[in-house]
Amino acid sequence: MEGGYVNEEDSDAIMGVESPAITSYTDPKQPNALRASAIYAPTTTTTATNASGNNKSLTNPPIATFALTTTTTTASSLSSTSQPPSPSAIGSPPPSTGGPLNGFVTKLRNFKFNDTKNIRKRLHFDYISKDRFLGGQLKTKNGQKYVFNGPPSGVYVSKPCLVVTAFIMVVILIFSILITYFVTSHGLGKPEANPSYITAQAQSKEHPEGNSTSVATAQFHVPDWLKDNFHTSTSSPNRIKDEENVVVPPVVKEEEKTIVPPVGDIPVVKSEGVNDDGDDITKPTDRLLQLHEGWRPIHYSIVIEPNVETSTNNGSLVIEIERDAKITSWEPIVLDVYNVSISNVRVIRSLEGNETDEVELDFDSDYGENNDSFVVKLNPSLASETQLKIALSLDFVSQVTDTLQGVYKTSYINPDTKKTEWMISTQFSPIDARRAFPCFDRPDMKANFTISIVRNSNMSMALSNMPKYHSDTHRLGYIRDEFMTTPKMPTYLVAFIVSNMVDSQYANSDGQLFPRVEIWTRPNFVDMTNYAYKMVRKFLPYYEEYFGIKNKLPKIDLVSVPDFGFGAMENWGLITFRDSALLVPEDQELASSSEHMQYVAQIIAHELAHFWFGNCVTPKSWDDLWLKEGFACYMSYKALNQAHPEFQIMDTFTVLEFKESMQHDADNTSHAISFDVRSTSDVRRIFDPISYSKGTILLRMLNSIVGDEAFRSATQDLLKTFAYANIDRNDLWVFLTRHGHEMGTLPKELNVKNIMDSWITQPGYPVVNVERRGANLVLRQERYLLPARNPLDKQRWFIPITFETDDLHKGDNIPTHWLTKDQEELVIPDVFTKETNNNNTVLYLNLNRQGYYRVNYDSVSWLALKKNFTLLPRITRAQLLDDALHLSQAEYLPYDIPLTFLLELYTSVDDELLWSAAKPGLNYLIYNLKREPAYETFRAFMKFIVRPAFDHYGLNEPDNESHLQLKHRALVANFACKFNYDRCTQVAQMRFREWMRDAKKNPIKPNLKSVIYCTALSEGSYPEWYFAYKQYKRTTSASEKEEILTSLGCTSKPWLLSKYLNMTINSTSGILKQDGALAFRAVATNAIGYEIAFDFLQTNIKEIADYYGDGFSTLTEMIKSLTIYMNKDYHKQQLQLLAANCHKLGLKAVESAINLAMEQVNDNIYWRTHSYDKLKSFLESIVSEFQINIF
Ligand SMILES: [Zn+2]
Repeated sequence: MEGGYVNEEDSDAIMGVESPAITSYTDPKQPNALRASAIYAPTTTTTATNASGNNKSLTNPPIATFALTTTTTTASSLSSTSQPPSPSAIGSPPPSTGGPLNGFVTKLRNFKFNDTKNIRKRLHFDYISKDRFLGGQLKTKNGQKYVFNGPPSGVYVSKPCLVVTAFIMVVILIFSILITYFVTSHGLGKPEANPSYITAQAQSKEHPEGNSTSVATAQFHVPDWLKDNFHTSTSSPNRIKDEENVVVPPVVKEEEKTIVPPVGDIPVVKSEGVNDDGDDITKPTDRLLQLHEGWRPIHYSIVIEPNVETSTNNGSLVIEIERDAKITSWEPIVLDVYNVSISNVRVIRSLEGNETDEVELDFDSDYGENNDSFVVKLNPSLASETQLKIALSLDFVSQVTDTLQGVYKTSYINPDTKKTEWMISTQFSPIDARRAFPCFDRPDMKANFTISIVRNSNMSMALSNMPKYHSDTHRLGYIRDEFMTTPKMPTYLVAFIVSNMVDSQYANSDGQLFPRVEIWTRPNFVDMTNYAYKMVRKFLPYYEEYFGIKNKLPKIDLVSVPDFGFGAMENWGLITFRDSALLVPEDQELASSSEHMQYVAQIIAHELAHFWFGNCVTPKSWDDLWLKEGFACYMSYKALNQAHPEFQIMDTFTVLEFKESMQHDADNTSHAISFDVRSTSDVRRIFDPISYSKGTILLRMLNSIVGDEAFRSATQDLLKTFAYANIDRNDLWVFLTRHGHEMGTLPKELNVKNIMDSWITQPGYPVVNVERRGANLVLRQERYLLPARNPLDKQRWFIPITFETDDLHKGDNIPTHWLTKDQEELVIPDVFTKETNNNNTVLYLNLNRQGYYRVNYDSVSWLALKKNFTLLPRITRAQLLDDALHLSQAEYLPYDIPLTFLLELYTSVDDELLWSAAKPGLNYLIYNLKREPAYETFRAFMKFIVRPAFDHYGLNEPDNESHLQLKHRALVANFACKFNYDRCTQVAQMRFREWMRDAKKNPIKPNLKSVIYCTALSEGSYPEWYFAYKQYKRTTSASEKEEILTSLGCTSKPWLLSKYLNMTINSTSGILKQDGALAFRAVATNAIGYEIAFDFLQTNIKEIADYYGDGFSTLTEMIKSLTIYMNKDYHKQQLQLLAANCHKLGLKAVESAINLAMEQVNDNIYWRTHSYDKLKSFLESIVSEFQINIF
């Protein structure tokens, strides 16, 4: 499963500080940089002259002086950087310099920082006039990555449906009263014959003895269509044998046959917390996950008829169940249910050796506590039969939700008829199969599934995990589709779709290929599926080769679902996606950005990797969710790297995944990656960056520890050994250890379990402190902790060490040393000689960032790294900047060091990885400074740094640029507009106006849409906003819709922000539920918008909770995005009030989300109190020293 679209720009801010008016405009495309600088930065030119060689003011080196390199070989000028970059320039050393700013650069390089105390004494920086901020807008790509399920609202939206529902409720009530009366006055009821039920056309018979259950036993006849599967579950002609290749699906025949219609009159059990109006008053709710042992499912036969009008599923079910040989005690059979009502329960067994002769068994049955289970107790006289195998048959009615969980309905407008078309989709992961049908809803309870779907004939198609093998008329106006039996799999992978969507005809054109791959979408999107299809065909053979196991499924359907809570879901054979995760428009005007195409490719690679890791081999419990998600993420990088080496995606890994994981793993609210999942809210919580990003980082670290070959062969071995079964992490450790030892990459005295336990069972990650002691290298570790380092924290890890010095270029990722949990310090002898241990010799650790830790160097080492920065490997450069920014954030380092490394961006205009690495740390500073006086200096400093790169790249995209260059230009422009470089903001507005003049012809290039839209809306007013909203409704491109949704939150007009938020809880606004958190985040990350967002949340909390349910944690996501600006004590009080309000309303999950968010606010408050003034002084000293124009 994968989260929503998280663009690299996800937490970006475009600041809306009003820029000074400029008198003339120079096209940034023009190479005449001299002219540009004369117009835009007159003071800069002056400074360059003045600054040349002027270091006299820095005559008092402080105790911890951190001097910039004195080399002048890397100095740059605008005149050289204004040349178009060559494709090979990415990642290459920065251009040499000359020209009018040469002196400026020299001064930069020679600048020495003092400690804050001296700077304060020395400098008397005055702010230029009063605050000039008129506010700022924040631009965000996406609010949500990991989203979860919860209870349905269960009420159909239209008025007629409400009336029908009310009528049904009355009938149900009367029916219930009658049954109750009947049961209480006659003991056990004699069940009515129910000939009309969908499958089990069974004759009821009077129960032989009275009991207290509300449901009777009855003689059971297995329907003909089920018999094969029922009696010989492993020999069904349609079933995939686990180790065999599949049979080709037979031709589907339509037959005319009239069958009696099903009845929908089974009372729906009201669970606790459901009031008379049908509203679940406790949602989003939290339930304990009970693990019941004793019985295991073998096979499910399910017939289900989802009904959009009544919002119910009528169904019938036969589960073959066997006694778990490992459990000796006599346990009841416990099925998981949620808002499901059950009737006509029967239990039968086959007599030994005579499969046609069934015997009906006596039993008691009832709903369990809170109606969240259904318990069947067999007669204890059977307790001695350890091999007992039975079939449990029942009918059920479950809910079709509108909260994107379980079986749910969603709609879209048919472009031809302009009418609303409804469709049914499913999302069962992680724990919502129980909303659809009674089941053993746990990952380790694997079984085969034979599914039949009854659909109204006005729905043109039904899909499920396996190919359809038969189709006929079920009754007048209804068709029944029967699907082949699935391989053994857990319930969370079951899926089906009923709709009028169309296929893209790939299966026909590529009929000779196995498996059949088809993409389904609405008719007007069919031509947006080519890219996804191409990717599937690239990735499948790669995985088959890497894992050494052929894909077993005969078909793979990929479906874009109009409203989908997750990014995508790996249902075996039927992968569901939100539109933006699958569709890539090829039409010029709608074309997707490079970033978006990479995202689509990666998400497809992720879901396909699950077919091996997750679907075929499944973690035993949700505790080890990271195993499947980590593997799917890691494999998606490998697959993408193979398909598109030019993306250099493994380098991007070291920035993106580390950012995601380390950000969430830094303070006391983090959790161990292996998490003791006890309740439904625990299950939801683990779908977070710790499971995904930390999971993938740890697997990559393991790969580096044992080497590529051992890692791959261990994975192959594991998958073959546990095919169609479950594993826990210890199984992986065993295989990796064995193969590592065999290959000789893992020392014999080490085993993977010893190494990995420290990473898996405790939260957080370490900082390795580096000290040069004579000829030796001395390493110590401590936990990286926010808000600040805590020397008392005793958490330790088993850390793989790799390092390089000038004299030692091993270029190998396999660790040479280990810093263990018990070692106070690790001494690596004779790394230096007397001659080499100085600040001219570089030393850097954690090569290619293979280990999950940050590195803090001593001052000599930092200085050497700075002096030789441009000579370092590309990943190391990015790593140093990111580590330095975050080490300062937590008080491990003074801010002069990261600021010095930030200055490298001034000359490293082409180093896209370095620029990406700067983002997370910079965003933190932006959010914490944006509403403070120091932002003025910070903005000036950053504008100064990003200007050469923007002048170099501009907002024009030449043709035939590489993927990396396209992404990099967008990032540079994003920074330039964010820091209000007027050349960027002016051009952005101009381009947008051009579009406004002719809405049908969008002149903005796909990669630059996000920055141009947001800047234009931020700087503009309501005409821009309404224009954008109109385009949102008009466009058919899902990725374009997301771009616009994000930019709508960039406006600086409070009433528009407020209007926008209210649209997120109005189903007619066109904003889908899947996008609610994205829209909210767009407003909340806007420095002007966040208070409006908070107000909106406080005022409408109940309505939001009702509207979104807890299906994909929209409310939790909203709360997370609120806290980024909160750094004052009164913010805490505001949050506490909101938590109290949620408590009153019974919104427990939201309450706990607020408590987690509180920690983030505490971190911010600490930073504001302890680091703000120091950073401010450093910034002022730089701005003053270099005479940077404050405007
Ligand atoms: Zn996944």
